[in-house]
Amino acid sequence: MSSALKGRIVVATHNAGKLAEMRELLNHYGVDAVSAGELGLPEPEETGTTFLENSRLKALAAAIGSGAPALADDSGLCVDALGGAPGIYSARWAGETRDFAVARAAVREALRQADAKPPFRAHFICVLTLARPDGTMESFEGRVDGELVFPERGSLVFGYDPIFLADGQAKTFGEMTLEEKQAIPPDGSPALSHRARAFQAFAAARLSTS
Ligand code: IMP
Repeated sequence: MSSALKGRIVVATHNAGKLAEMRELLNHYGVDAVSAGELGLPEPEETGTTFLENSRLKALAAAIGSGAPALADDSGLCVDALGGAPGIYSARWAGETRDFAVARAAVREALRQADAKPPFRAHFICVLTLARPDGTMESFEGRVDGELVFPERGSLVFGYDPIFLADGQAKTFGEMTLEEKQAIPPDGSPALSHRARAFQAFAAARLSTS
């Protein structure tokens, strides 16, 4: 590992919302994060057909590019009435400008065209992969189930957060603070978000990052 990265991990993302959440989660485990964007690493094309494949290709590209262990998240929203869409294409539904107001409106329009009726069951998936420069990798999945709500609620906007109401919650993800959405319960019970749940599985495996 290069000395500049000692004690740190490369987070293989160029997405600011995801980076903020992953930093918060890594801090919980006492690990500092530097992002692939901050290191000037190119963003690999997501050519996989599953969350797992995309997560692995992003982690490996960042680990090889930086010479340090890298952690990638591939995640997305899967809507039952849309056959699991947008799924692995969740980022692409936001178009070239990555405007997620556009993506949220597209989900609503797709539900209307499918003549779907509420409750609009949906889930978020997150697959985390830790890759090392020698090519070894481990992956962990987290999932949270809920339903979509329209009109959207919340101003703390990251991706599809304002339209997602997790089961048993009164607030959408868009109405929660980062700390509320990402909290890791001290008693080891399951966290709320898909990303925090994947991190719990990752932490439980006690992997070496060196
Ligand atoms: P990718 O993993 O880079 O392909 O992007 C996944 C996309 O799914 C993100 O750009 C977000 O729009 C969406 N997404 C993933 N996780 C979340 C989340 O926790 N809240 C809201 N949107 C999310």
